[in-house]
Amino acid sequence: MAAILNRRVLVLNQSYEPLMIIGAKRAIILVLNEKVEAVENYRENIHSAYLSLPLPSVIKLKYYARVQRKNIVLSRKNILKRDNHTCQYCRAKSVPMTIDHIKSKKHGGEDTWENLVAACVPCNTKKGNQPLNESGFQLLKKPRKPTMILHLQKYVKQFQSSWRPYLFMQEKN
Ligand SMILES: [Zn+2]
Repeated sequence: MAAILNRRVLVLNQSYEPLMIIGAKRAIILVLNEKVEAVENYRENIHSAYLSLPLPSVIKLKYYARVQRKNIVLSRKNILKRDNHTCQYCRAKSVPMTIDHIKSKKHGGEDTWENLVAACVPCNTKKGNQPLNESGFQLLKKPRKPTMILHLQKYVKQFQSSWRPYLFMQEKN
């Protein structure tokens, strides 16, 4: 029971717009309080002395919530997530990752979504403080601030495949 309560649940606005991800425990409370309805369920059921109900995987608010778009926090973790833990210079993956300032701090480069990328240690060291165009390095893609949908998509794992249609991620053929 404890383990399944750690499952993640995707919350949609009444309009089906993806809003956030919460823990199963909180989701169940919302379902029981009739604030939301379950749209998709995991295969498991929640059992207690008083109730048995399917563990929700996607829930939808019953009333439209005017939400202030939450900003995705600029953090090391979120930069790595945006860049799929892949060095943005050489595509290395599954190696120790650092955060590189494209324009180095020394040259006035700031801590922004557009100036920070995931980089492996060798690339980061080799590039050093050189300006990008003089360093011989090229970025895989232009770094941007991730949208909430893109950010939420990174949470989708195999067992959350039920989320895909709601995050515009239909299976590729
Ligand atoms: Zn690299």
